[in-house]
Amino acid sequence: MKISGSTEVFCILGHPVSHTLSPIMHNAAFQALGLDCCYLSFDVEPRDLRKGIQGLAALGIKGFNLTIPHKETVIKLLDEVTPEAARIGAVNTVMVRQNRLIGHNTDGLGFVNAFREETGVSLRGKGVLLLGAGGAARAVAFQLAKEGIANLLIINRTLSNARALVRDFGKKFTSVNWSANAFSPKVWDRIPLERVDVVINATSVGMQPNDPLMIPRSLLKERLVVCDLIYRPTKTRLLSAAEAAGAKAINGLGMLVHQGALAFELWTNKKPPVDLMKSAVKGHLDLR
Ligand code: NAP
Repeated sequence: MKISGSTEVFCILGHPVSHTLSPIMHNAAFQALGLDCCYLSFDVEPRDLRKGIQGLAALGIKGFNLTIPHKETVIKLLDEVTPEAARIGAVNTVMVRQNRLIGHNTDGLGFVNAFREETGVSLRGKGVLLLGAGGAARAVAFQLAKEGIANLLIINRTLSNARALVRDFGKKFTSVNWSANAFSPKVWDRIPLERVDVVINATSVGMQPNDPLMIPRSLLKERLVVCDLIYRPTKTRLLSAAEAAGAKAINGLGMLVHQGALAFELWTNKKPPVDLMKSAVKGHLDLR
């Protein structure tokens, strides 16, 4: 990669951030398209986020990403936020235009684009069981509702967060049947699993080797598509159990690549080389 006096810098801010795959995929894309751009990562502590953002604006940086724990707190530091990102309550991509910092959320559409690519299945009219109600779950829920799903059953550790999600989106998407529940042994008897076509894990449970399975194994059926937003490990306990039941299992790599591709397009106004971005990430994880 050639760095010149006119190289445009893009970056991601997180804490911690050393695990991020975003530089791998964005730099591969910049190189493939012959763009004089580079992408870096910066570990920024929450107390330094304001200074960090001001620094990026002062340096004339044209765009950046945010990851844990900055996606929510960044909102108050921006000049503008898209209505979608405002309703989701999280921003993962910032575009700088005429010195104005504009926040977007590409996570939800990134998930749906990956789902479409990997399954070829339309989400319209489907029933979805969503585990989790954090930032990623909210982005995914918003986009699922836009896609016209029929039912969204949410189960979360903290019931109030699941209820907040339903309260925030329910009035906008009245054609969706929303339900908010807390994890408990009895919840599985209460929820109408016959109305579920797709299961999505949007909790962070599954990242550690000893993490429990969040759904009883007996409920995983062949007819389901089971998605885990986690991509490291590439096969969580949930995805292994889903495969063993004959279900289609999808990890979070596709979402990672597609949310990045949407950010790339916002920044460069160019069609992102999605397949190449995916191979770069897979190559890094040694999955090719
Ligand atoms: P977040 O806002 O911190 O939300 C975490 C979610 O996990 C909440 O619903 C939380 O429940 C739940 N949770 C955490 N620990 C739990 C436990 N021990 N038992 C049960 N539930 C637990 O994080 P996020 O940004 O939404 O990220 C969630 C997951 O999605 C992470 O694994 C992240 O890596 C992944 N992700 C992937 C992509 C991608 O591109 N593939 C993008 C974004 C996120 P409470 O509400 O009770 O706290």
